Amino acid sequence: MAESYDPTIGADAARAFFSRSRKGEIAHGYLFVGPSGTGKKSFARYLAQSLLCEGNGDNAFGACGSCRSCTLFGHEGQSAHPDFIEHLGALKIGDTASVGFASTGDTTSRDLIRQLAMQSYSGGRRVLLLADVEFASPAAANALLKFFEEPPAGVTLLLTSSTPAAILGTIRSRLTQLRVGPLSRDEMMRLLVGRGFATDAAERVLARARGSLTRALELLDIDAEAPHAVIARWFDEAIAGRTPAASWATRESLDEGLLAIKARLKDAISAPYLGERAERRIDLARGLKAFEKIDDAQRLARTNVSPTMVADLVRMAITNLALDGAE
Ligand SMILES: [Zn+2]
Repeated sequence: MAESYDPTIGADAARAFFSRSRKGEIAHGYLFVGPSGTGKKSFARYLAQSLLCEGNGDNAFGACGSCRSCTLFGHEGQSAHPDFIEHLGALKIGDTASVGFASTGDTTSRDLIRQLAMQSYSGGRRVLLLADVEFASPAAANALLKFFEEPPAGVTLLLTSSTPAAILGTIRSRLTQLRVGPLSRDEMMRLLVGRGFATDAAERVLARARGSLTRALELLDIDAEAPHAVIARWFDEAIAGRTPAASWATRESLDEGLLAIKARLKDAISAPYLGERAERRIDLARGLKAFEKIDDAQRLARTNVSPTMVADLVRMAITNLALDGAE
């Protein structure tokens, strides 16, 4: 996809808020709330980049992408910027020096206090991103409270949470809260198709994903192992002239598999006539003949012929049916 990833997707309100702000007006702390998997972290990272950008003047929002600071920011999740500190995951109680956050992903309250007090590398602002802060331990919460009581100069704290009610009220009241997500139908489709998923596969999981990209990706993973998806892949391979392994063809699943293949073949043949966009164009005359062969295969399936052999007969009937060949 030529279109680059948009870190502000799903965050219209937050985007509008910061687009109206100047760097000088930025508060000590913001809390981004919304369902998990809707882009809170991506938005917060982009805001951090914007705040540290040297090429966007006093604008709080919108990074130039090419200044020294933006270059250090690198790509999503791989920042090497010394004034951007990011902690994903739980803030844990405990001060063990030997097991620091760097090796475990957990941040101790001492780590947090130390980092909040550190000087800026470039002499300007520092931005600290704490994701999923609802799991903050009491000690970590106290460190955060201390921060708000005596905010060090030039430190901006960005927090994300999918359960803001679980954050201490005393901390929440000191933060400006902004909502991110859930993602709209169009935004979800854009993101999923942009990641290489077929439109029909993406559409199947949209309702269940309820505006969460993470949930949609999980569902697509699960669907990929579902029987209909396994057969769909086998069918697509076979009509493209390849010889995929027929893992779906077992004694128990053969009947259902053959029905599914017939349905898929029928869809492929009829789509152009129904004015639908077909995933693959099919040789019509051979497609209709293949139907008869699958009828034969269905009869064979009720005999003692091995399921693998039945599947292979079907494969030979539909091989190279795709007019466009492989993608
Ligand atoms: Zn920049």
